[in-house]
Amino acid sequence: MSLERAMDILRKYPLCNHCLGRLFARLGTGLSNEERGKAIKDYLLMMIHERIISEGLSDELLSDVKALALSGHEPSIKFLKNLGIEVSPITCYVCNDNIFNRLDEWAKTIADSLRSLGVEVRSFRLGSKVPIEVLKRELGITTEFNISSAESIKRELNRELGKRVSSILSVSFSREEPDAEVVINITTGSVEVQVMPIYISARYRKIHRLVNGRGQVRWPIDSIIQVFGAQDVVIHVGGEDPFGARVLGNGRPTILQIIKPSRRPSIDDVYPLLKGLNYDVILSDLSRVKSSAIVRMKARVRDYVITYRVLAITDNSVTDGNIKSLHDYFRNRQVVQVFRRGRRVKRRVSMVYELDGKVIGDRLVEFLIRCQGNLYIRGFIHGGFGDVEPSIAGTLGFGVRPVEIDILNISD
Ligand SMILES: [Zn+2]
Repeated sequence: MSLERAMDILRKYPLCNHCLGRLFARLGTGLSNEERGKAIKDYLLMMIHERIISEGLSDELLSDVKALALSGHEPSIKFLKNLGIEVSPITCYVCNDNIFNRLDEWAKTIADSLRSLGVEVRSFRLGSKVPIEVLKRELGITTEFNISSAESIKRELNRELGKRVSSILSVSFSREEPDAEVVINITTGSVEVQVMPIYISARYRKIHRLVNGRGQVRWPIDSIIQVFGAQDVVIHVGGEDPFGARVLGNGRPTILQIIKPSRRPSIDDVYPLLKGLNYDVILSDLSRVKSSAIVRMKARVRDYVITYRVLAITDNSVTDGNIKSLHDYFRNRQVVQVFRRGRRVKRRVSMVYELDGKVIGDRLVEFLIRCQGNLYIRGFIHGGFGDVEPSIAGTLGFGVRPVEIDILNISD
């Protein structure tokens, strides 16, 4: 890319230093666009001056200096003044000179809005709404002059504002998973601030068996809301527990999405506050994660390997021989569950890897079942009215009802 092209552009379009510098953004790393634009104009004037010295002043060269002067280049304005020619700059074709001289003012507005939130913000991301006409004029020039080295005005604006806001508030400017997101509308000067959620991955155990009439599992939500000074907490769970089941062992993966937190304490400070409280759910293995962890967790659910302990009441007595044949039959056995919704029929295939059992009383049996995470465990026990095939009840040939279900382990 030749810098001579800059002269072609300025002959047609007066551009401020920022808007000219941005077109050549790949040249001269370490320079701001403003510095780069100024340097290009200085260079062009020196080239013209050199030619004037060797060739004499022609109309062509004079009009080039005028073009530089019109774009606000002070040395060119002075140069012409010495020749007795007065030129006053005109506004920048792209930004109309009313964007980059307001950076400090906007940065202050943004800093004030972040401050007035009254919440802890250590990093933020910044976006700007730029009038479409400005973007169109900018695109017009890069297309017309076939420029591939240009940076967009939005990028420069966001970076320059970001730098200024960072230094006012001593917070960092970060594109990825920031604490807050700010969008400034540069037409109106209005600022929208959004406090970003915190995501915490954890494992939970449900230690109480819920008895009839107490259907709600009590999570330590209030405590979490309090710790983070949050507005709400959304619980994302990897899979679903059978109703009333305890979740023991290593627990089930979960991700807590903490909405509008006003404090961002470290995980180490959160732990002690969740301990020793009388909830049904105990959280462990807490760690901060990115929002994308939710999708990853949900995608893994069907590949979990879950070990259940189920206590069941049977219609007939179960013998050790029955247990033995169940054990042999349900080794790496595929189980199909049929869902009917109106006319649509869906099938879900799950694996049962291993089944063991123990006769506890006359018609009381305890089963240990190791299976794929998507198995509908209750249906697998009682047959789901013929919709789960094969099932324990179906294989035994008489009714089996699960009365207690515990999850002993989840390998994810
Ligand atoms: Zn401009």
